[in-house]
Amino acid sequence: MVDVGVALFSNLGLLAVVALCYSVVVYHLRGRVRAGVVGLLLGFGAILSMLDPVQIMPGIIVDARTTMVMLSGFFGGPLAAGVSLLIAGGYRIYLGGVGMNAGLISLCISAVIGICCHFAFVANGRRVALWHLLLLAVISPLTSLAFLALPWDVLREVFQRAFVPISLVRAGGLIFLGIIMLHEQRRIIAEARIRELSFLDELSGLSNRRAFYANFEREWARWTRYGTPFGLMLIDIDNFKSINDRYGHPAGDEVIRALAVVLKRQTRACDIAARIGGEEFVVLLPRMEPSSAASTADRIRRAVEAETVHAGGERIRFTISVGVVGDVSSYPSREKVMSACDRALYVAKRDGRNRVVCDNPGAVGAPVTDPGPTFGASPAV
Ligand code: GH3
Ligand code: MG
Ligand code: MG
Repeated sequence: MVDVGVALFSNLGLLAVVALCYSVVVYHLRGRVRAGVVGLLLGFGAILSMLDPVQIMPGIIVDARTTMVMLSGFFGGPLAAGVSLLIAGGYRIYLGGVGMNAGLISLCISAVIGICCHFAFVANGRRVALWHLLLLAVISPLTSLAFLALPWDVLREVFQRAFVPISLVRAGGLIFLGIIMLHEQRRIIAEARIRELSFLDELSGLSNRRAFYANFEREWARWTRYGTPFGLMLIDIDNFKSINDRYGHPAGDEVIRALAVVLKRQTRACDIAARIGGEEFVVLLPRMEPSSAASTADRIRRAVEAETVHAGGERIRFTISVGVVGDVSSYPSREKVMSACDRALYVAKRDGRNRVVCDNPGAVGAPVTDPGPTFGASPAV
């Protein structure tokens, strides 16, 4: 019995490699494709374990294939379990022998257990915990019900020699390999979150400076290579310091969030709205014709003007000034586009705030809006 256990345990070592390959699959694939490839991977893992089985008697082999199929169902769901079952079952039929039927039944039971636990603990993006794996390990000996398909005299021999070691090694394998897979899955989710956060501005929920410059560089490359136009606007909240001074910093933060909401609402899904400084924002407008950039900016300005922020029991109105570059073809470099935007913003501030100024060589500093009374100078209403 001990020799069977030791042999089976060494069989599991090979499968750790399969579990590590799982991390590559989880990293690169999503949805059904991921489930299908997980099934393929663990199905081939099952074959790998059948290549190095423990022979109890002629035609009766035990190995870690049920562990693979069960984990496939557990992590990948029905599709993964089905694919693994087909692969492992096909190979078990190819091996043949007196234990073939029992072998196939044990694979089916493993798949069913894996799928049930998948729906109980894993499906719908739930967080898998170690105790879920422990529970899977505890119910895994049910797989040995397949022994009942063996002839009576064979069943007694197999049960006496193999039931305890195979149950222990299967349970150990599920926990051992399951933890590796679980750990890899969590690491990849955490990595994706960190990547996402590194491009996000926490306060506004918009893109941050890094994300903006990455996209700006890409749009500029598209423009120089294919002549695809894009626009850029630089937005600054008017008299923001006085909003902070009058209503407090948290209220100022609310104003920043409110502007972010307006920017999201007023821009297309392909536009990149980012917060690049305290109360400075940019909007990158890919594939936008030069004539449309200024009108988009003015639509945003009017939407902000109509907005009321409720913070600390106060109703706060605020305005923005916008510097726009609609036609990037007038500038030799990204830096020049940025400083042109900056220049236009400066003119908007100088000329009274709450306005859009479009910088283009033909009409530098010409305001495109006639804002009427400027709210920016007295933000409270
Ligand atoms: P202007 O109309 O000329 O832009 O005037 P302004 O008062 O908006 O500009 P100024 O640069 O003088 O003030 C910007 C203020 O923004 C100063 C700073 O305390 C505040 N600020 C920067 N970051 C944050 C932030 O994250 N939250 C809050 N509440 N305030 C911020
Ligand atoms: Mg500023
Ligand atoms: Mg400001």
